[in-house]
Amino acid sequence: MFHYDGGIKITRAGLAVDDRRRQPRGFVSHAHADHMARHEWAYATPATAALYRHRLGDRLQVQPMPFGKPIELGSLQLTTYPAGHCLGSAMLLADDGQTRLLYTGDFKLGSSYTARPAELPQADILIMESTFGIPRYRMPPREQVIEELVTTIRAALAAGKTPVVHAYALGKSQEVTAILHRAGIPVLQHPKMAQVSAVYEKLGVDLGDWAPYESKAAGGPAGGSQAVEGHVVMTLPQSAKGFRLAGLQNVVSIAVTGWAIDPSTQHRLGVDVALPLSDHADFDELIETARRVAPREIYCTHGPAEFVGHLQKAGFNAFPLVPESQRSLFS
Ligand SMILES: [Zn+2]
Repeated sequence: MFHYDGGIKITRAGLAVDDRRRQPRGFVSHAHADHMARHEWAYATPATAALYRHRLGDRLQVQPMPFGKPIELGSLQLTTYPAGHCLGSAMLLADDGQTRLLYTGDFKLGSSYTARPAELPQADILIMESTFGIPRYRMPPREQVIEELVTTIRAALAAGKTPVVHAYALGKSQEVTAILHRAGIPVLQHPKMAQVSAVYEKLGVDLGDWAPYESKAAGGPAGGSQAVEGHVVMTLPQSAKGFRLAGLQNVVSIAVTGWAIDPSTQHRLGVDVALPLSDHADFDELIETARRVAPREIYCTHGPAEFVGHLQKAGFNAFPLVPESQRSLFS
């Protein structure tokens, strides 16, 4: 039913899943760069389709797959389910009437202001991402991390400093903006983020009180004269090209990432504060996902090799997703 050659193919539908190489037919689970390519014909939820086109080109052909509305392809029925990772993010269920295969894409359980919470259908075969598949990656409760973020920012503002939050342009930055809006803190966003936020708002997600950061050096017209006082400035992760914003002094830098569970992350990223606000399932959520989907086989991808062992210890028939993965299905 599926085949893996560095990319996943749902064989009976002739559909490549989250392949970074251009494919005749490709399912795009969400619009992060490591999950998409310019496919000849793409399949995606309507929100992912809009973000995919925003990022890779308006003329791309996309068959929209709204959540929970099956389509037929080959001899299979394909249905998307919310993945809770970013706006539009979806899991894909492929069903031939006998076997149900669920591919999670990037996902997270629990609540979010900007993504529909994940729904987990039962399946026989589960292909799951396992980014945080090591027991030490247990995230504190979301409310606690949000409180810490807001407290850190309020303290910086009270001290006359500029809080600068580093986050991915798609997903995390919109979620943080919505979080800060609820705390009454206005946000200025890096122009690259602001473009994605505009697509979010066009798709009906209200992010609250935010504006693009418009200093000249950041690509805007305002020549650095924009009032920053009382705002949080959001910019890209430090690894990204063009993340620096001109005209900012006396900064408190904050990274929001699940990797903040590692004490070394703050130092590695060179920030003043690192907070574990994650858009990926943590270790307990990964195990909980396996329990709820209750599959007879699990294939793990995008994560540490040892997660397979943790699943096996928990009683699952689990394998790493490697090029031989197809064999166990057809033997
Ligand atoms: Zn992602």
